[in-house]
Formats: sequence, C-alpha cells, structure tokens
Amino acid sequence: MAKQGPRHAGRALFHEVFGSAPEVGASAPGRVNLLGEHTDYNGGPVLPIALDRRTVVYARAAPGFRFASALEPGVIERRMDEGPLGHWSDYLIGVVRQLVAIGCEVPGADLTVVSAVPAGAGLSSSAALTVSAAAALAQLARRRLTPEELIDVAWRAESEYVGVRCGRMDQTIAVCGRPGMALALETATGQRRMVPFAGSVRLLDSGLRHALVAGEYEHRRIECEEALRRCQRLIPGLTSLAEIPVKALPRIGRLLPRTLARRVRHVVTETTRVREGVDALRRGRRTRFGELLYAGHASLRRDFESSCEEADAIVALARKSGATGARLTGAGWGGVVIILAPERSAGAVVERIQAGFARRFGRIPQAWESRAGGGVRIER
Ligand code: ADP
Ligand code: MG
Repeated sequence: MAKQGPRHAGRALFHEVFGSAPEVGASAPGRVNLLGEHTDYNGGPVLPIALDRRTVVYARAAPGFRFASALEPGVIERRMDEGPLGHWSDYLIGVVRQLVAIGCEVPGADLTVVSAVPAGAGLSSSAALTVSAAAALAQLARRRLTPEELIDVAWRAESEYVGVRCGRMDQTIAVCGRPGMALALETATGQRRMVPFAGSVRLLDSGLRHALVAGEYEHRRIECEEALRRCQRLIPGLTSLAEIPVKALPRIGRLLPRTLARRVRHVVTETTRVREGVDALRRGRRTRFGELLYAGHASLRRDFESSCEEADAIVALARKSGATGARLTGAGWGGVVIILAPERSAGAVVERIQAGFARRFGRIPQAWESRAGGGVRIER
C-alpha cells in the first residue's frame, strides 16, 4: 500500500513504467457496508459509506493496452478481443469492452494502478479499480459519462467479463460517495438517499480471505432463490425476500425447511435493521445505530451462517472493550469487521480487541481507521 498517498505514488509509477507523464487520471474509493448484508441480491436496502482510502489510475493514449499495478512487478500487455485470463488486468479489459459497448471510442492505453484499498479484504478494491479506470479511460475517449453510465460500465465489467456475480452496491458507492455521508440504496429500485454519517469507523481484518470460500457465497444465493420460490407459494405476487413482512416470519418458520427459514429471517430482519439504522442516523442516535450492528452480526452468525470464528471473536471482544457496535461486513466467512466506538476511546478499544485476539489466535489483526469519503473524481 502506498505510504505517500496513492496519487503521488500513481504519478511516480507511471513515470517509472512508461517514461512520461500521464495524460489523464481518476480515483475512486473503497467502501464499507455499515448495514444490509446479503440484502442486495434479495431486493433489500444497503447502507455503505465510501472510505477515505482510494485507488488511483493514470493513463495515456497508446496503440495497444499495457497495464501496471504497484501490487505486482512488471507490465502486462492485453488485447481487447481476448477472453478473461484470471488476472487482475481482466477488470481493466472488462472496463474497456464496456466503454466500447456504449460507444466510447477508447484508443489503446498505457495505464497504471496504485491503491490504498487493501485488495480482497472485503473493502471493494475491485469496484474502486473498475470505477477509477472507467473514469480515466472515458477521459481518453473524450466522453463525459453520467453517474449511471459509470456505475453500469464498472458493474458490467466485473459481472459480465470478470464473471463475479455481484450486485451494484460497490460500484454505486464508489461513484456516489460523499464525505460525511452514508448512502441508503434500495437495490430493488436503485433509489439513492444520502444520510449523515459523521465521525470515524475502525476496520479490523479477520485475516481470512473470502476468495477461499466463494463456493459458500454461491451456495447462499442458491438457498435464497429456493427460499423465494417456496415463499412465493405462500405469498402470491412476492418478487423478493426483502418484501416479506416481519409478521410473516413465524408462518415461514413453520412451513419452510429449517435452514431456508433461517436464511429468510436474516434477510427480513436485516432489511428492517437498515431502515431503523437510517432513522437512527438521521436522529443522531449513535448508540441505537451501534446496537443494530451487533444485532446484524448475531443474525449473520446464527441465521445466515456466514460468519467465522475470528469475526465472532472480534465482535465479542468489541462488546467487552466498550465499542458501541460491531459486525462482520462484506460477503462473509472472513474479511473485515467494522467497529464503532466513541471517538475519544476508539484507539484504546481497538488495542484491547487486538490484544484479546492475539491471545487467542496468536497474531495481531490489522486495523484501519476511516471516515466517510467522496466518490469518483478526476486526478491531475
Ligand atoms: P475486494 O473487492 O473485496 O477487494 P475482490 O476479490 O472483489 O475483493 O477484488 C480484488 C481483486 O481486484 C484483486 O484480486 C485484483 O484482481 C483486483 N485489484 C484490486 N485492487 C487492485 C490493484 N491495486 N492492482 C491490481 N489489481 C487490483
Ligand atoms: Mg470486490
């Protein structure tokens, strides 16, 4: 990760690799989802903030495509017409192809990537990459993209070309993030509302990576699809699990297989937690908001079974150490735990959690601090 800031390091890397100054640049943030886990593909709401950690892309027009990232030595040459290689450069080729698909005449490009968003930790380094690359390459093509076009290009690059079955939350917040604000996004309609979110969050890395358990995530999606089919027989006209009213849960609990009923209960209660969370933030009720995070984690652990021992331990330690709220965020089975604590004691809270974790697991989990940051922007 760049020490001097990714913007400075990005320009320096471009110079070093391609021997000139870049023509265009853009950056986009990682994100953390405060509340609303596994609701995105079930028609429910999510509540992410953009991080103040960003990915910066610099580029110049060129005859072909040559990419370099600070994460890896060397330069990779790619062709636009080839299929995905299972390499990080797939995200960029995916973006180029989607830009071309909407009529953006991208020439070739020499392009560098430097990021302060840790990759694969559940902080959406992938959308930070696709959104910043799309914004930089659109400039090379002299096209101004609307926020909707940018979200769509980045989302299609990842879902259609790279082949990750993701919702649009990551791309939307990477484009629309605003300092000091969370984004309440209704995934069924695309409706967006900004909600005040002052202060900082702490992020603690469980050290486990979700890439190892992609199969579990896929399995949950299949379970949710099956649960929806069964619920549609009970509730005519139902189009998503998030629409199910809380009062229908006892009946669903009696009529669906145990596991599926628990998955439904998570989605339905998580949906109400996001709505209550938005209300709590609007009224400045941080304690109530924190309780919703704890409740959200318990639901992931018990009902959705997408947590892991390390994350459960961090959340339990957080509670004991005086955090107002904590929960595993992201796809699950590892990644990052988000921790809310009063500003003046947050540092001490994190240290207590790290010490408790180290006693049990023999290593100190990495911690980051962040605030709600801004979305995509042009960089000089
Ligand atoms: P997350 O989005 O949670 O960080 P993903 O698995 O969705 O995790 O995306 C991580 C992938 O995105 C990396 O494996 C890599 O292919 C690509 N990526 C992200 N940031 C960079 C970067 N700075 N340089 C090169 N590739 C990156
Ligand atoms: Mg990602």
